[in-house]
Amino acid sequence: MFDYIIVGAGFAGSVMAERIATQLNKKVLVIEKRNHIGGNCYDYKDENNILIHKYGPHIFHTNSKSVWDYLSQFTDWEIYHHRVRAMVDGKKVTIPFNLNTLYEVFPTTLANKLENKLLEKFEYNAKVPILELKKSTDSDLQFLAQYIYEKIFLHYTAKQWKKNPEEIDEAVTARVPVFIGRDDRYFNDIYQAMPKEGYTKIFERMLNHPNIKLLLNTDYKEVAELRDDKFYLFGNEFKGKIIFTGMIDELFNYKFGELKYRSLQIKFETLETESFQEVATVNYPNNYDFTRITEFKKLHPVKNNKTVILKEYPEEFIIGKNTPYYPVFTDEEKEKYDRYKEYAANFKNIILLGRLAEYRYYDMDDIVERALEVYSSIIGG
Ligand code: FAD
Ligand code: UDP
Repeated sequence: MFDYIIVGAGFAGSVMAERIATQLNKKVLVIEKRNHIGGNCYDYKDENNILIHKYGPHIFHTNSKSVWDYLSQFTDWEIYHHRVRAMVDGKKVTIPFNLNTLYEVFPTTLANKLENKLLEKFEYNAKVPILELKKSTDSDLQFLAQYIYEKIFLHYTAKQWKKNPEEIDEAVTARVPVFIGRDDRYFNDIYQAMPKEGYTKIFERMLNHPNIKLLLNTDYKEVAELRDDKFYLFGNEFKGKIIFTGMIDELFNYKFGELKYRSLQIKFETLETESFQEVATVNYPNNYDFTRITEFKKLHPVKNNKTVILKEYPEEFIIGKNTPYYPVFTDEEKEKYDRYKEYAANFKNIILLGRLAEYRYYDMDDIVERALEVYSSIIGG
């Protein structure tokens, strides 16, 4: 009946389903354990017409024209440039830390001196990871690096990862580099926008096709089973391809142990005020148990005398209790993942794709790009 089974209806699963259904004209069964499509990008309008991102704030940005063009088939966009402030010593300052931030936190003469030192060492508009800046030999740059490290990165990272910046893959803190320029946006990508009607509409349009059958509220283990190297659907051996976007360790019954993730407790508050903060997101690196507060109206403007904010409280991922959000990038976890990946190569009809199945810190554009690549190399090509 089905040519493909896809586990998970996030971007990884939905892009694959859409491509296979529309381009190959093949039948696809999408199995999703939640009661909705969209994975962690799912959003919905609350009773006050405010668009809420259920699993945390999602801001779209990409340098890839092909990803932009592909997604533009399913949505119109509202141009949006994300700006973030970080609360440092009781003051909201610009982040990523840039040349303007120097003047927000230091007296003018000191800021001026540090600006000159930075421009002597780095190109204008360079992005310097904090762990690289910390290696500076110049004593003024050392002072600056230590300041930024302590005020912005150390305690935020301890909350988010329960580790020091040095203990996680350096690419993680490099996502928010020190910026040797004056662009005060969180991202510098060519395309930055929010989907006009929200993310869920994109998924509805992708999956609305006669070749796609969607099974919500269903953990794949309720209807399928991997046994003796074979995949069974409703008790019968399934000979087509399986695209799996859930956790790789779960698929292989945790045979090499559980892969670690960080999770979040996401707490919403509806406030009786038109506006709560001046930008969509304010980070709280140093105080409080939460890492950041996001106000949804600032992402999707709506006239209203109420507003909804969200606080993110990081916590350890525990199976059955909360959601696996962020793979933990330590050498130990990477080695464990490599063992799963090697083992997975024995299953020629299973394709592993997505943040959970590939244990990667994919942003939305990364996973759309990856899914399009996998589609054309493995299936279409
Ligand atoms: P998911 O969206 O996780 O989809 C996987 C799906 O598989 C889920 O729906 C899950 O329920 C389902 N599933 C898992 N196991 C099973 C099972 N056993 N049976 C059936 N179904 C199963 N990216 C950006 O570009 N910009 C941002 O601002 C941004 N902010 C983020 C904020 C947070 C808090 C988080 C966690 C992520 C953020 N991302 C952001 C990343 C973005 O969420 C991911 O890139 C994207 O969701 C990855 O898609 P995916 O399909 O791989 O995974
Ligand atoms: N980070 C930090 N302080 C900040 C912002 C980010 O220490 O104010 C570090 C932290 O380790 C975080 C990483 O940089 O996990 C990546 O931040 P990003 O904002 O990209 O996180 P995401 O939006 O993916 O949760």
